Amino acid sequence: ALTAGIVGLPNVGKSTLFNAITQAGAEAANYPFATIDPNVGIVEVPDHRLNKLTELVKPKKTVPTAFEFTDIAGIVKGASKGEGLGNQFLSHIRQVDAICQVVRCFEDENITHVSGKVDPIEDIEVINLELILADLETVNKRLQRVEKLARQKDKEAVAEQTVLEKIKEGLEEEIPARALEYSEDQWKIVKGLHLLTSKPTLYVANVSEEEVADPEGNTYVQQVKEYAAKENAEVIVICAKIEEEISELDQEEKEMFLEDLGITESGLDKLIKASYNLLGLATYFTAGEQEVRAWTFRKGIKAPQAAGIIHTDFERGFIRAETVSYGDLVEAGAMAQAREKGKVRLEGKEYIVQDGDVIHFRFNV
Ligand code: GDP
Repeated sequence: ALTAGIVGLPNVGKSTLFNAITQAGAEAANYPFATIDPNVGIVEVPDHRLNKLTELVKPKKTVPTAFEFTDIAGIVKGASKGEGLGNQFLSHIRQVDAICQVVRCFEDENITHVSGKVDPIEDIEVINLELILADLETVNKRLQRVEKLARQKDKEAVAEQTVLEKIKEGLEEEIPARALEYSEDQWKIVKGLHLLTSKPTLYVANVSEEEVADPEGNTYVQQVKEYAAKENAEVIVICAKIEEEISELDQEEKEMFLEDLGITESGLDKLIKASYNLLGLATYFTAGEQEVRAWTFRKGIKAPQAAGIIHTDFERGFIRAETVSYGDLVEAGAMAQAREKGKVRLEGKEYIVQDGDVIHFRFNV
């Protein structure tokens, strides 16, 4: 299963956020894929479409989909040189598929800051620099190997050398590999290098309780947004402390609490959705009288693979996928009407599943 790693300097609110995740989190028992590990938190993906489908179909049961966050402890300056738990930290980052970097944007005299003052950009740069240095080492090692082959005019080696040199140049100017532009072929090479700075990344600006309803007034948040814009990264503003409190409430209490604060969606819900996207994940639905259910798939997969997520038999015996888009189904009001209007398509093995598809798989047993 794909996972998003939560990183950040000490005392920025990582554990507080991770607590919120595990408390709000889904029961591992409902998600057989789930990793049982204290550093992993399973979250259900909030999706209003699932509520709407439940209204339409009135099933006995509704099941949301879920994915995992991984808490990555212990970055310090010098991690790339093996300082502190440095090497361990880097190897944990290597294992995640996307990075959520928590940045302290709240002032609190009682909570010390590792570098003595709140300065989100400096904090981001400390972490990014460690990742950049680790990647530079990887790239240099790889370059040495590839250069020899490239001199012998090995085509693949020449292509890889070009990419490596481009990345190296970027890293030396402290530009993460993800922020450079590549052709499609080059991007394949980049992926194969498993660099830390090529992982999709977003920033989590952790603000105080007072500022969460109106974060535009927080200059730290503005700074983070400007920084993130340079690499086209998203910024999610949350107050980790409030999320921790909310995570203990039931749905109704939660909505009241948010209303009192003057916000419509919890920061954690926003973070969950943004991370899901960042991981390249999307949702299709099955909607029967027994159960309406959301399923997670990797964008770009074809119908039989998507069927395999439900059961391997569905993939092996795949015949076709009766598919209607969520929008068409809601507009038609019911499956039968959608069918009458010709909105239910019969898709075959080559169909690329789309986010929001409502699918009924036909298969041979
Ligand atoms: P970590 O070291 O990054 O895991 O940071 P923690 O989650 O342990 O948080 C460090 C301290 O900051 C704790 O005392 C938290 O209660 C506090 N803290 C975390 N988030 C917030 C926040 O949004 N507002 C305020 N005022 N304090 C926070």
